[in-house]
Amino acid sequence: MTDQVISPFLGDHDHQQCQTEAIDTAVAECEKQGLKLTKTRRQVLEIIWSQHHPIGAYDVLQKLQQAGHKPAPPTAYRALEFLVHARLIHRIESLNAYIGCPAPSNSHQCQFLICSVCGHIAELNKESISQALQEGAAELGFEARQPVIEIHGVCHSCLSQE
Ligand SMILES: [Zn+2]
Ligand SMILES: [Zn+2]
Ligand SMILES: [Zn+2]
Repeated sequence: MTDQVISPFLGDHDHQQCQTEAIDTAVAECEKQGLKLTKTRRQVLEIIWSQHHPIGAYDVLQKLQQAGHKPAPPTAYRALEFLVHARLIHRIESLNAYIGCPAPSNSHQCQFLICSVCGHIAELNKESISQALQEGAAELGFEARQPVIEIHGVCHSCLSQE
């Protein structure tokens, strides 16, 4: 993995493998950070990793219930918060939804490319983009503290089907 791309658009692939790898990474990351991946947290993470599309908090809750697990809504919401803080998932503000991060220990510039056709999200990590933003903001005397970028567009596999 380069430091430029944290997660690419994958097209057709073995997603089972993605999910397994992501959960393994999360387990290792929690160990490293001294965090506890409780049963609910892990289940929430598995639900989020069941796809590359972002998923809203309410849908996570419904899927937990379908799986026969019935945590109180605050428990599920706290699990989401935990996963965001541990950087195992990201919150996509413009969609009010969550996406799994395959490389939580990577440095993060938080640049998200969101395909508005298939819903997949890729994650970029370009220092040059953040730097340009910080500089532009600084020219206005503004300190950009959370330069998260969410860009809506169309991914290559959707473009090729147009
Ligand atoms: Zn996948
Ligand atoms: Zn990430
Ligand atoms: Zn697409």
